[in-house]
Amino acid sequence: MQKTLKKWFGPDIPLEVINFNIGMVLFYIAYAVAIAGSFYLQFSRAFYYVSGVGMVLLSFFIGYAAQSGKYQLSSFIIVLIFELLIFPLSYFIDGRFISFSLLFYFLGFLLTVFVQEGKLRSISYIIFWVSWISSVIFVYIRCSRMGIPLFDDIHVFIDIVAPVVICALCSIFCTLASIRYYETESSKAEESRKESDEMERSKDVFLMNMSHEIRTPMNAIMSAGEIMLSKDISDDTRQNVHHITNACRALITTLDDLLVFSNDDNRKIIVQESEYELESFLDDIINMISVRLMSSEVKFYVYVDPYIPRRLIGDVIRIRQVFINILNNAVKYTGHGHIILRVVMSDVKEDSMIMHADVTDTGIGIKEEKLATLFEDFVRVDDNVNESLKIEGSGLGLSITKSIVDAFNGEINVKSVYNKGSVFSFDIPQKISDPKPLAKIERSKELGVIICDDDENMKSVLKDTLRAMKIRCTVVENSDEMNNAIKEGVYTHLFITQECLEGSCDLPVLMGANIVIVMMRNVDDPDDGSGDARLVKPLSCLNIARYFNSEIEQTERSEEKEEEEHRLIVSGARAMVVEDNMTNLMVAERLLTRMGFEVSTANSGGSAVSLAKVMHFDILFIDYMMTGMNGIDTLRAIRKMDSGWTAGVPCIVLTADAHEGAKQMLINAGFDDYLAKPIDMGEMEYMVRKYLPGELLI
Ligand code: ADP
Repeated sequence: MQKTLKKWFGPDIPLEVINFNIGMVLFYIAYAVAIAGSFYLQFSRAFYYVSGVGMVLLSFFIGYAAQSGKYQLSSFIIVLIFELLIFPLSYFIDGRFISFSLLFYFLGFLLTVFVQEGKLRSISYIIFWVSWISSVIFVYIRCSRMGIPLFDDIHVFIDIVAPVVICALCSIFCTLASIRYYETESSKAEESRKESDEMERSKDVFLMNMSHEIRTPMNAIMSAGEIMLSKDISDDTRQNVHHITNACRALITTLDDLLVFSNDDNRKIIVQESEYELESFLDDIINMISVRLMSSEVKFYVYVDPYIPRRLIGDVIRIRQVFINILNNAVKYTGHGHIILRVVMSDVKEDSMIMHADVTDTGIGIKEEKLATLFEDFVRVDDNVNESLKIEGSGLGLSITKSIVDAFNGEINVKSVYNKGSVFSFDIPQKISDPKPLAKIERSKELGVIICDDDENMKSVLKDTLRAMKIRCTVVENSDEMNNAIKEGVYTHLFITQECLEGSCDLPVLMGANIVIVMMRNVDDPDDGSGDARLVKPLSCLNIARYFNSEIEQTERSEEKEEEEHRLIVSGARAMVVEDNMTNLMVAERLLTRMGFEVSTANSGGSAVSLAKVMHFDILFIDYMMTGMNGIDTLRAIRKMDSGWTAGVPCIVLTADAHEGAKQMLINAGFDDYLAKPIDMGEMEYMVRKYLPGELLI
């Protein structure tokens, strides 16, 4: 018995099944009451036939429900059978309220309430009301016509009390079952909530541990890299170490992205503010992007407002993530053309401002209809393009970027033209910690720059930058314009590329001019030591200010030094400089002339040997990397000559490769010493003091 009860009403049985079973038990009880009542009241035979058919159909569908598990459907069919067939028929048979019809109508109604759902339930309700009302109307009309009472006392009892009792029992049992069911369900839900909280906590711990495990070695690599960068290493090695540290930073950014995504379910980004130096922050980002673009044909330009306050307060890690995500996308989705980063400020108050940045690219662009969903999770706009160009991504970067910008109460926008390019711009409010400008030059009024570059974008960004820094500047297109600008006498520096120096320059005019030649090189160009100074592209107010400020500092220091020290002057000494790069030749010649040397120059090994045959020199400076006869061959050829002085003349090699092995190799090849390019005046003086016979020194 208990087993059967458990099987029908146990806690593991679904609620609809329990209610169905309660309904069916009560149907049978109602049947028992109806049959007993009908015997007592001596109903017609037709009533028993109809009830018998009803009982058979009821039992059949109970069995069908138990077998197939289709309790909804079975209860619906049972309701149909009773509401539409069996009990309306019994009304027709007896024609008064003496058929226990109300009892079965209401049982059908309760079955509808407690078991059925959705559409079936709505249809059952309609059937219930239509069938019930039409039956009542039918009985009422029939009784009035025939002049018989609608019910007598005993029928009132049977048709009202019996349904009320049985239906009340049905409601009570079903309600109790529902309460028990919901209690079990809510305790189950509580348990699974606890379980999922536990899992969530272990996920957080796991992520934290993983983050720590990845960050620790990554930091070790980065610190080792930083240490190497602070050492005296060759440019090549420096570049490679930069690659390594930048890649580490990129990995950490990806890790941060993943952490934001998996940790912050509601993307609740916690802003952690600290003070930071804008210069190193931007330098880091610019350096990372220019290294990424090193082997690509995409050009990278940067304009930074030199008057942005130098120290700010904000969540520097997150802001960096925003810059890197947007710039990385620009790099990823731009195959040719250029990328321009602009950082300016707006809404400047005493202690706060808005940092505005925009990144313009000439990449694949985005279709207008796709712009609306761009910042949603996992949205990759143009899968076909991404796949055909093999551009990898998760579709998470922009949604995380937007969450971060939103957390700062900032704004992010995008404009794009498909197949032409995009502009992503964002505003981030920042507090000001030190209002001194980011890139200020002390004596900017005394400076003047001539710009010579074939790249139109570069010229325009550079001109804007120099003007913003209050430095006089002019752009020249050819040697005539350059000569005219030099003649004006107001320009102190020439910013020029190697191509322009070789192509559109009047070298003799340039050599005679009192102007500092600043070579603008790409990050991956080998440093051949040409020019008086070098600036690595992209040029911005950051590296330009650093350059001018260090130059001013150096000049001040060397002026002081010159006053303090006895200035070295040689007397009656002759030097020869052999170098195939005209600019370098010019620089070395100028330095030696300033020391008092009579200088001869040769632009190849062959012409150096010819000169040595006809002239006598007290010291030689020979470049190592020359086309044709290299430095070592030239030295050997000169040493081998039989003109006496050549065997013992001090020979200093000029080399851009300052690494220890290379130096030793040159000494072994017969050079007395080496001078690293770019040539430093102090080091050159030191060589002269060391190797020139004492009687030639003053
Ligand atoms: P993904 O990892 O795919 O780059 P993002 O969320 O960073 O994810 O970017 C979402 C999508 O937006 C990208 O898949 C790309 O289709 C489009 N997109 C983002 N930046 C650019 C851009 N500078 N130029 C063109 N399409 C872009």
